[in-house]
Amino acid sequence: MKTYSIANQKGGVGKTTTVHNLAAGIYMQTQKKPLLIDLDPQCNLSMACGLMPDQVDHSYFDFLRGADFEDVGHDVGFADIIPANHDCVLAESWIENKRRGRQVVIQKRMEELAGYEYDYVFFDCPGNLGFVTVNAMIAASKVLVTLQCEYFALEGMAKMQQEIQAIEEDGKSVELCGIVPTLWNGTTLNYEVRNEVRSQFKDIFYEVRIRRNVKLGESPSHGKHIFDYAAGSHGAEDYAALSREFLRREQ
Ligand code: ADP
Ligand code: MG
Repeated sequence: MKTYSIANQKGGVGKTTTVHNLAAGIYMQTQKKPLLIDLDPQCNLSMACGLMPDQVDHSYFDFLRGADFEDVGHDVGFADIIPANHDCVLAESWIENKRRGRQVVIQKRMEELAGYEYDYVFFDCPGNLGFVTVNAMIAASKVLVTLQCEYFALEGMAKMQQEIQAIEEDGKSVELCGIVPTLWNGTTLNYEVRNEVRSQFKDIFYEVRIRRNVKLGESPSHGKHIFDYAAGSHGAEDYAALSREFLRREQ
């Protein structure tokens, strides 16, 4: 079981879209369901999988507080998911107020999943570097960053590296294992920023570019991943390529 947190301290940079469609692509290519964990109180991943927050009785926050995996997990066809609901806004301060082990709350609970045969587990992180994200990064030990190649992308990467370094100074191991360019427009700025970040992060920078594609924006509101919603689209093409590249790098 390999676990990844999909993280970036910014919102709106394609984290959730990537967890959703990368998981679907992996399922199509391997016939094995990944496990997804929606850590964002905005519940976008859960909704994209057809689980509306007011219908979700048990969330990942309940799981953290001791609920059984069997009671919080849902099978959504291409993946299993531990969803979020609106109660999850409280998770951040609940973790913060723990007296001990504040950084390993998620890691501790993940031990319960050791007996399950998932090849891949993905955390969809909120768009900040708060306690939940840091917990996920530690629990996962591998971090995949989605990067919009715009101004401040480098500053964002530097911040992420600082956070990873701080975690390592605490004696925990975290590996930045991939940077995936998302919301790609093909502008000169996109290319410049990509070349700059790539020259710093060489081997972990993905070859694939996830182009901006209207269908990718539409599919979640239909409760579908891109391969179901618009199989012939650029979005489907790019996420199929990402899934292949991910499996090639991580298998
Ligand atoms: P994050 O999880 O980082 O906040 P999302 O994946 O939710 O980002 O993406 C933010 C918004 O942009 C969403 O409305 C999503 O549907 C849309 N989106 C994401 N990737 C693409 C893309 N490649 N093309 C078009 N729209 C996209
Ligand atoms: Mg998101």
